[in-house]
Amino acid sequence: MGRVHDIFVIGGGINGCGIARDAVGRGYTVALAEMNDFASGTSSGATKLIHGGLRYLEHYEFRLVRESLMEREILWAMAPHIIWPLRFVLPYHKGGIRPAWMIRLGLFLYDHLGGRKLLPSTSVLNMRTDPAGKPLKAIFAKAFEYSDGWVDDARMVVLNARDAADKGALIMPRTKVVSARQEKDAQGKDIWNIDTINTITGEGGRHQARMLVNAAGPWVDHVIRSAFGQNAARHVRLVQGSHIIVKKKFEDPRAYFFQNPDNRIIFAIPYENDFTLIGTTDRDYTADPKDVKISQEETLYLCNAASEYFKEPVRPEDIVWTYSAVRPLFDDGASKAQEATRDYVLKVEGKEGEAPLLNVFGGKLTTYRRLSEHALEKIGEAIGIKGKPWTAGSHLPGGDFPVRGYEGEVSKLKARYPFLSEGHARRLVRRYGTKATTLLGKAQKIEDLGRSFGSDLYEAEVRYLIDNEWAVSAEDVLWRRTKAGLHMTTQQMHILEEYIAALPAQLAG
Ligand SMILES: Cc1cc2nc3c(=O)[nH]c(=O)nc-3n(C[C@H](O)[C@H](O)[C@H](O)COP(=O)(O)OP(=O)(O)OC[C@H]3O[C@@H](n4cnc5c(N)ncnc54)[C@H](O)[C@@H]3O)c2cc1C
Repeated sequence: MGRVHDIFVIGGGINGCGIARDAVGRGYTVALAEMNDFASGTSSGATKLIHGGLRYLEHYEFRLVRESLMEREILWAMAPHIIWPLRFVLPYHKGGIRPAWMIRLGLFLYDHLGGRKLLPSTSVLNMRTDPAGKPLKAIFAKAFEYSDGWVDDARMVVLNARDAADKGALIMPRTKVVSARQEKDAQGKDIWNIDTINTITGEGGRHQARMLVNAAGPWVDHVIRSAFGQNAARHVRLVQGSHIIVKKKFEDPRAYFFQNPDNRIIFAIPYENDFTLIGTTDRDYTADPKDVKISQEETLYLCNAASEYFKEPVRPEDIVWTYSAVRPLFDDGASKAQEATRDYVLKVEGKEGEAPLLNVFGGKLTTYRRLSEHALEKIGEAIGIKGKPWTAGSHLPGGDFPVRGYEGEVSKLKARYPFLSEGHARRLVRRYGTKATTLLGKAQKIEDLGRSFGSDLYEAEVRYLIDNEWAVSAEDVLWRRTKAGLHMTTQQMHILEEYIAALPAQLAG
């Protein structure tokens, strides 16, 4: 057993990795265990919006909306490679679900609640003349257009983990926490003894920490029950959300916000150049979160809802990929899944003299940085303050270029590596920002990047992901570190799988 960590974090989703990064940056010693891959839980299954949450205004969640609106530009500046602004087109017609005045009022608040300096404000579109009207049915003669942001969710998680590790945190993927008990240390103080198991090798481990943070997302209650033996824990409401991906439905770079007759909304978003992402659903979920997958009912719901708007219907046979995840919402007793609060709740347990435990319930990708700051306030109260808030104004790895500097970075990369195609250079800057040069190294021609696996994915990139971002399988590379899987054939994916499996164990992980 090594040293006693100040903080031990359970869960390598956005909240666990965000808290670990913030804490180590303030000078705490930190360890984090993730039972699978980073972002393998909810944090890779989101709609991927950095957004205020226009819909939450209807539920009077002003605190959450304001905090989220303010975070949009802070996060964009922190990681301008993986986060960028997106305009949303919200079509409406007379006699629609919500009257125009209500939408206008919501968008007025959205524009003015706070934090908007660079993002353009709301405008009104004539859909008969605006290109955004082209793929939609003629009944939608008008629309509002407003701003929010887009994020590569799984990359945001792994970059937080990477930065935490670079700052000295012990980051342990494929490490499941199986039990956590309070015991006295040599000085008679209570500390946590945490038992872990490596989910690949089965090897056990033991760690000690002064404070434990349970950021297990949908498993947060499960951890409370299994690791701490509190059988009655039931704080989160699990709500499934699914997405479908179809071949590009429209050329316009803007996304659509569609209102459905059941009062819910869905988005249709330009995705990975060649596709349209449509989602999401909202339904209560009771099984193990790891088994979540789209149901036929959800598939039909999404196809029908989008087909109410698009001239060309969306059919189940158009779907090229789907993904599902479970929202770990704090259970506020709301009757409908879509009405349960999207805000987060942080609860510290432990009486005087006991080692404290912080449970994290709920949260959004958008609010993870503020959630982490709030968590650090609680940690400071419990085990003593170290450092100050520092993450606003910081950069995630590769994000150290100007907020509107993406095109400039692409030009620089192409000038330094003239053999890269336009598309390849763009994809590399989107994924790695300024770190793209670390990945490409001294390469002078495309062959220097090693074996090609298809879709601009070369050996050099795969090795970078294994060496720097803890990737150990084709799935990690194809569906979380990148979305190259969308552009590759099954055979190409098999070849990558075999390549990674044949690497010496010390390289693969
Ligand atoms: C359909 C959908 C759409 C969404 N859209 C958006 C959006 O557009 N914008 C937005 O801001 N938010 C969105 N969200 C919300 C956001 O995705 C989640 O709030 C966020 O990802 C939760 O992160 P987390 O770290 O709490 O949980 P997770 O990402 O699930 O992380 C928890 C981790 O804990 C690990 N773990 C569990 N038990 C153990 C154990 N015993 N030992 C070690 N590790 C363990 C799990 O493997 C998991 O990786 C959406 C969510 C869903 C489901």
